[in-house]
Amino acid sequence: MSSGAAFWAEYIRRLIEETKYKLGLTDYTITLVVAKLPQDDFKMKIMAAPEYMDAVIDIDPSALDTGDEVDELVAHEMSHLMHWELHQVAEDLVILAANGNELLLTKFSKEVERAAELATTRWGKAVKKFIKDSRNENRH
Ligand SMILES: [Zn+2]
Repeated sequence: MSSGAAFWAEYIRRLIEETKYKLGLTDYTITLVVAKLPQDDFKMKIMAAPEYMDAVIDIDPSALDTGDEVDELVAHEMSHLMHWELHQVAEDLVILAANGNELLLTKFSKEVERAAELATTRWGKAVKKFIKDSRNENRH
């Protein structure tokens, strides 16, 4: 692992802890995995098991650009935890409703994914601002 990767891993670990606290997710154990992700568009991703208060965030430092983007990526991934169950239930409902109809399954799966990502992006931007503002307040 390069020193750049080590820097980002430490920075992100701190940001995850800060975000956990701000979002009231302190019961969660979040493991950070630094690794090359298979697709180019994946810089960071999260998988969660809310019933165990457990999540894993994968990060690919080689895909990162600026510090500001990292703040937003972490805020986005952490925001997924705020409505994780809702996203899963929606995906399960799509499978039930499509009842083997591949066309419906594809169409509604994409709709659910898009709606969940849109909500997460809104959440993530709010969380990023919230953390930035509270850092500024703490400086006074
Ligand atoms: Zn997302």
